[in-house]
Amino acid sequence: MKITFYGAARTVTGSMMLLEHDSKRILLECGLFQGRRSESEELNRKFPFDPKSIDMVILSHAHIDHSGNLPNLVKQGFEGDIVATHATLDLLDLMLRDSGHIHEKDVEYLNKKLKKKHEPLKEPLYTVKDAEHALRHLKGYSYYSTVQVTDSLQFSFLEAGHILGSSQILFESNGKKLLFTGDLGRQHLPIIRNPDNPGKVDILITESTYGDRTHRNIKMSQEELKSVIEKTYAKRGNLIVPSFSVGRTQEVLFDIYNLRRENRIPKMKIFVDSPLSSNVTKVFKNHPECYDKEMMELFNLKENPFEFEDLYYITEAEDSKQLNMLKEPAIIISSSGMCEAGRILHHLKHNITDKKNTVLITGFMASDTLGRKIAEGIKKVKIFSEEFTLRSDVYSMTEYSAHADRNDLLNHVKNTMPEKIFLVHGEQSQMEAFSKNLEMNGFKSTNMPVRGESHELI
Ligand SMILES: [Zn+2]
Repeated sequence: MKITFYGAARTVTGSMMLLEHDSKRILLECGLFQGRRSESEELNRKFPFDPKSIDMVILSHAHIDHSGNLPNLVKQGFEGDIVATHATLDLLDLMLRDSGHIHEKDVEYLNKKLKKKHEPLKEPLYTVKDAEHALRHLKGYSYYSTVQVTDSLQFSFLEAGHILGSSQILFESNGKKLLFTGDLGRQHLPIIRNPDNPGKVDILITESTYGDRTHRNIKMSQEELKSVIEKTYAKRGNLIVPSFSVGRTQEVLFDIYNLRRENRIPKMKIFVDSPLSSNVTKVFKNHPECYDKEMMELFNLKENPFEFEDLYYITEAEDSKQLNMLKEPAIIISSSGMCEAGRILHHLKHNITDKKNTVLITGFMASDTLGRKIAEGIKKVKIFSEEFTLRSDVYSMTEYSAHADRNDLLNHVKNTMPEKIFLVHGEQSQMEAFSKNLEMNGFKSTNMPVRGESHELI
């Protein structure tokens, strides 16, 4: 078996690897590159292989940096199955359409400018229609069921504990085992199960996003959230929570639900203002097979942490605008997570200039994003090209991170005792630090492949 690394190679986006076994060509992940526009544009548009030559795509989870280039792959001639867990497929149905819509809108905006300058117009990377074509190729499997690719190659999905439906992929061929971690979650994330321990493998391809960092205890999230809600309520202000639609929004809701149930926070209205988040939350309700014990107990009691008194899902733009007129303190959870687009921009615009309000940052904010500027407390920020003065309080909570930290990653390696390790999905500095750490722990055969690098495996 041969592997070639085409994405998330010494970086964190564009996950993509090609496995070649017997005469089969299997694409592992088909993610979008994100980052500097011109660079990622080129990488996303041109595949380094002929999409028609690929027999099958296997996905670890639904995040766009792992799945977002599928519509383009299908548009360029891929005809096989796209295989993932059932929950991943349901999330993809929403996310790929949403991504198609974003690409259409982006190019529409860009073309308006190009037209004025009489420059050639652009085509979107893919459209909603292209996304719908890709969705027809999806094929769902349950966790732990065996998928036979050839007589001598099979694989199964194990729990990765990262987001709903996320999996590690365990390949078996001629008595040898190859494990790809996908994005590995942490112990005790709310709602979903902990990552599985797959036992001994021969080869491990592991993510390394936080190869050199440790997270604070996840259990502190509820206490921190409680304190921020109480402080905001005491000021009679609004709590604005920029949040990713998949995972983070549901985790924050789960904590609010628990705090409410125990009467530990004041009663205030909670609005989830994002059509995608509302739909994703419905998918969460439909997949109890992914729940951890605590969530399963609630499910059996017919309790629903995504539907409770004072919680409202906003889908219509008109209703979203009404939130500017609120007279009582409220919690508004909205996307995009890094405050780069979407309805959160309107809520920030209406709330950050007043010190009675609070912004709560719950996720990683990439450099140069509005979210990062607010998290750093920069006083003058631009929203829709207009300057605003940040006067509201800002709190950052990193407890909600859905990625394994250095210790989790190291434990996973110790559990799997691989002879050979490949590090993917990490910035170079994180990878190098983790590689040194592995070496100190006796794991000497660690590779950090660059884009285009191939290896013979088993
Ligand atoms: Zn992910």
